[in-house]
Amino acid sequence: MKLSIGCIPGDGIGPEIVAEAKKVLNKVAQVYGHEIAYTDILMGGASIDVHGVPLTEEAIAAARGSDAVLMGSIGGNTVTSPWYRLAPNLRPEAGLLGLRKALNLFANLRPAVLYDELADACPLKKEISAAGFDMMIMRELTGGLYFGERYTTQEGGLRRAVDTLAYDEKEIRRIAIKGFDIAMKRRKKVTSVDKANVLDSSRLWRQVVEEVAADYPEVALEHMLVDNCAMQLVKDPAQFDVILTENMFGDILSDEASMVTGSIGMLASASLNDTKFGLYEPSHGSAPDIAGKGIANPIATILSAAMMLRYSFDLDAEAGAIEGAVKAVLKKGYRTVDIMSEGCVQAGCKEMGDLLADEIR
Ligand code: NAD
Repeated sequence: MKLSIGCIPGDGIGPEIVAEAKKVLNKVAQVYGHEIAYTDILMGGASIDVHGVPLTEEAIAAARGSDAVLMGSIGGNTVTSPWYRLAPNLRPEAGLLGLRKALNLFANLRPAVLYDELADACPLKKEISAAGFDMMIMRELTGGLYFGERYTTQEGGLRRAVDTLAYDEKEIRRIAIKGFDIAMKRRKKVTSVDKANVLDSSRLWRQVVEEVAADYPEVALEHMLVDNCAMQLVKDPAQFDVILTENMFGDILSDEASMVTGSIGMLASASLNDTKFGLYEPSHGSAPDIAGKGIANPIATILSAAMMLRYSFDLDAEAGAIEGAVKAVLKKGYRTVDIMSEGCVQAGCKEMGDLLADEIR
């Protein structure tokens, strides 16, 4: 298969971790007989330095022209970097928001997986973490409270602020379809999270999710109120497969789910539109404090590349090979500095990439 991949190395540790992800992808291509063409795309601070803006029309066109985009991370030290003396719409992060908008990326996927070997990093009680967990948080990314009408007024001498939470059925249906499609590639369970005992938008959410569920008889659907879900994530995270939810609930729950894994350098993510296209990137930032030191953990980016193979290219076996390689390398006791523990062998960024590539045979 021919894979056309846009590559945004970005800033800070971005170029280092993307190089390792490419190394692993190239090994997958070699072993499974694929051909990858990469197009490098400038975005964020790297684009500001060359073009004066964080995102150009050429960069958007290059991303659009690719089947999928793999990104490192963008941004610099927000106190010392000259990028943060620019107007907000010219700072590195504006490039990412602009790209997400231009590509209509409405579905955000964040897996939260507890690896046996990293169970000590999990802040939950041992009897809970012992069951392990492997869930996918699917968050609607372009609607709801963060995009609704908002204003602040003065009424009767008091300041009053209003935000509106609106969803139409089309916005709910397209993310629900993505959620059920992804559940079909996993353990076939969807937990749709809402606040249907209070909110009209949640009652519509629930109805539309049920309509979509009718097309997926193999997938078990349950509804859960968001407050209960926040509790269940720390009480019994093993119960979840796909959590499907709206923008603000997903914002909060996905951070909660990532914290219970305990390891920022391991967390992948993806943002999808209604084609097979996706933007794949680690959940963490550009870690300017360790950039250039060769110690960054490339695993989150490498697992994001695995998600790209699975969701944009339907290469499930190849994605599984990368995920298996991560487990094997952890099992052999290799750790980057952020996940280091006693008795393990410390590996740098490049070395971790080599170890993972070697496991793909
Ligand atoms: P960060 O995630 O970059 O770093 C937080 C801490 O985690 C740091 O100590 C860092 O060294 C460590 N860390 C992060 N990733 C690591 C890895 N792969 N391996 C080892 N250690 C790692 O968050 P921050 O410091 O708040 O932000 C730094 C910059 O990143 C800012 O400019 C911010 O805006 C940007 N940012 C970008 C994205 C993105 O590109 N999507 C997301 C979050 C933050």
